[in-house]
Amino acid sequence: MTWKTKLRRKLIFLHRRTREYLLVGRGLASTHHPVQVHMISIRRCNLACSYCNEFDDFSKPVPAEELIRRVDHLASFGTTLITLSGGEPLLHPELERVIARIRHHGIIAGIITNGYLLTKERIESLNRARLDHLQISIDNAQPDDISKKSLKVLDQKLQLLAEHAEFHVNINSVLGSGVNNPEDALTVARRAQELGFTSTVGIIHDGSGQLKPIGPREQEVFEEIRGMKKSCYSQFNQFQRRIAHGLSHEWRCRAGSRYLYICEDGLVHYCSQQRGAPGVPLLQYTQQDLRREFYTAKSCAPRCTISCAQQTAMLDNWRAPQTLVAFPQPAPQPDPAALFPPPASDELVGISGLPNELQGEAD
Ligand code: SF4
Ligand code: SF4
Repeated sequence: MTWKTKLRRKLIFLHRRTREYLLVGRGLASTHHPVQVHMISIRRCNLACSYCNEFDDFSKPVPAEELIRRVDHLASFGTTLITLSGGEPLLHPELERVIARIRHHGIIAGIITNGYLLTKERIESLNRARLDHLQISIDNAQPDDISKKSLKVLDQKLQLLAEHAEFHVNINSVLGSGVNNPEDALTVARRAQELGFTSTVGIIHDGSGQLKPIGPREQEVFEEIRGMKKSCYSQFNQFQRRIAHGLSHEWRCRAGSRYLYICEDGLVHYCSQQRGAPGVPLLQYTQQDLRREFYTAKSCAPRCTISCAQQTAMLDNWRAPQTLVAFPQPAPQPDPAALFPPPASDELVGISGLPNELQGEAD
C-alpha cells in the first residue's frame, strides 16, 4: 500500500469518526429522532443458512426509487444511521445509488452482507458511493450443513477488503446452539484483527429474539474475544455479557422510535424478531408514532438479544421511563387518548416459526 493510499484512508477514518462522535452527541442531546434504522433492500439471498428465515430465493430487489423515498423520509426525521441488509444486499443492482443517497443526507451508511459477491470492483464501487461501514458474519471455520459462511470460503474476500476498502469493516463471529465448535469464533476474531478489522461476537437467540444461555467454554471464548485489542466498541456494553451468562437484564427498548426495522414492503417493525408491531407504512410514520413508541415498554426486553436495539437504547436508558404498554398490531387512531388502550395481554406478538437467528439480523 502506498503512502498516499494510507494517508487517504487515515483522513477518511478521521472524518468518519468525527461525524460519528457528533451524531452520538446529537443523539444524547435530543430523543426526537431515530438513531439506527435497519432497512431491507432485497429479501433474496444467494445462500440458504439452515437457521435463517429472513430470506427467499425469488424476490426482486426493492426498486431503488422506492428505497430512496424511504431514505428521504428517514432523513426528514433526522436519522443518524441506516444499515441496508437482506437477504443479501449485494444482489441489489443499484445498492450504491441508495448508499450515495443516504450519505447525501449526511446519514451514516452501513451494509450487512455475507460477503460472497465482493470483488475488487464492487469494493471500489462501494468506496465511490462513500459507504461508511460493512459487516460480515462468519459462522464457522469450515463450511457445514448449517452455514456456508465460513472463514475457509470467505478469507479471500477478507483479503480483498483489507487491500481495497476505504470503509470500516467489522467481522462478527457467533456462539450458541447450532454452532458446533466454539473455538471457530476465536479463529474468526483473530483473523479479523490480523487483517486490521474490528471484531464482534454474537450469541444465537431463540425464534423470538430471546435469550438462550451458552455453555462454560462458550463463555470463556466470549470473554476472550471481548478482551481483544480491536474488539468493537459496542462490545463494551454489559448487555452482551449478561446474555452470555444467561441473565435477564433491565433496559428500555426504544424500538419503533430510536431503532426501526423497515421491511421490503416499507413497513416499520420493532425489530427483525417482532415484525408486525407496529406494522405501519414508513411513509405514513410520523413524529407522533416515534414519540408513542419511545414511551412504550416492550415486554420482551428483559430476555432480548437484539444487540443493535440495545446499543441504541444506551443513549436513553438513564432517562424517560416508559409508561405505555406495547400491544399487538396497533392501528392508527385519530384520538391520541385512544392510541393506548389496555392490552389484552402483556406479551408482544412473536413471529411464529422463526428459527434461531444471529444477532437478530440476517446477513
Ligand atoms: S426488546 Fe425490542 S429489540 Fe428486543 S425483541 Fe423486543 S421489540 Fe425487539
Ligand atoms: S443468514 Fe444471511 S447469508 Fe444466511 S440465508 Fe440468511 S440472509 Fe442469507
